[in-house]
Amino acid sequence: MRAMVLGAPAPIEEHPLRLEELAPPREGPGEILVAVEHCGVCRTDLHVVEGDLPPRRPAVVPGHEIVGRVVRVGSEVRTYAEGQRVGIPWLRFTCGACEYCRSARENLCDRKEYTGYTANGGYSELVTVRAEYAFPMPEGPGAPLAPLLCAGIIGFRALKFALPPSEGRVGFFGFGGSAHLALQLAAHLGYETVAYSRNPSHLALAHRLGATDTVATSGPRAETPARSLDGAVVFAPAGPVVLDALTAVKKGATVSIASIHLSPIPAIDYDRLLFGERRLVSVESNTREDAREFLDLAQRYRLESVVTVRPLVQANEALAELKRGAVDGAVVLDCGNGRSA
Ligand SMILES: [Zn+2]
Ligand SMILES: [Zn+2]
Repeated sequence: MRAMVLGAPAPIEEHPLRLEELAPPREGPGEILVAVEHCGVCRTDLHVVEGDLPPRRPAVVPGHEIVGRVVRVGSEVRTYAEGQRVGIPWLRFTCGACEYCRSARENLCDRKEYTGYTANGGYSELVTVRAEYAFPMPEGPGAPLAPLLCAGIIGFRALKFALPPSEGRVGFFGFGGSAHLALQLAAHLGYETVAYSRNPSHLALAHRLGATDTVATSGPRAETPARSLDGAVVFAPAGPVVLDALTAVKKGATVSIASIHLSPIPAIDYDRLLFGERRLVSVESNTREDAREFLDLAQRYRLESVVTVRPLVQANEALAELKRGAVDGAVVLDCGNGRSA
C-alpha cells in the first residue's frame, strides 16, 4: 500500500514526508482493517512532522481524521462488518485502569495512544484500529466528514469549557478548520459568535457561516478588544493570542486553548487579565463520549464542513498550505478509496 511516511521531523518546507510502498497492516483480534477514503490534515500533524511533538517511533505515517470503509474485522470484533463506513480520530487507546480512566477522564490517561503519532495513521491507503476507538459514519461525500474527526471533536471539547452558562458572546481566536465548525455549533446552541483572525479570507468565511461579528487582528497588537466576550477559545497556536483573548473576556469567563502545542505565553498580568474569576484552561485530546456527542450534533445541525481536497501524494504541500493559512476551512487528502466525491 502507498503511504506518506515521516522519517526524521523537519520544517514542512523541506517536504519531510516521503511516498513509500509499505506492507499492508494486519488487524489484531480486536481490530478492524480500514481502506482510507479521506484523511483530514490537522495542525497536530504539522506539529508531528516538524518535531514540535517529540517523535514516538522511528518512522510514522501521520493522519488522524480518517474516513474509510471496513475491509476486514478481527476475530473478536462483533460491532462492525465489512463495507461499513467508519471514522478514526486521534485517540486510539486508553488503559481503562488508571485514575483518569476510572473517573471518565480517559483523555488524560497516562498510557493513551494516538493515531498518526504513536501508531501509523491515515496518510495511507490502509490503516488498522481497535474497534472500540472507531465510530460509525454516515454515507454521502467522504471529504467533508474528515475534519469532524479531530478539528470538530477537539473544537467541541474546547467550546464546552468556554461556553457561558446561558446566553452570551463567544470569541474564536484564529479561524481555521476547527474554529469554522465550533462557531457554527455555538450559533446553533444560541450563542453570539465573534471570529478573530489576521486573515481576511478566513474572516470572510466566518461571516458567511453566520458569525455575529468578525474582528481583523492584523497589524500592530495595539487595538485591544473591549471586554465584551462571555467566553473564548484560542485556536491559533500562538501564546500572545492567549493574552488577546484574556483581554477580551468579561469577569467569570473561561478562555480555553484548543492547541496541543503553543508558543510561549507572555507574562500574564494577574490583576488586569486573570482576576475577576477569569479561567484559563488547556484542552488535551478528547474522550470517546466527546466524539459521540459531537458527531451526533454535527449531523443534527448539518454543520457545513468547508474543505479543499488534495491527493495523498501532496501531503507535504497540504501541510505547508495549512501552515501558511492559505486555505479556508480544512485541507483533506484523497487517499484513493473513495466511491463518491
Ligand atoms: Zn488510563
Ligand atoms: Zn487533530
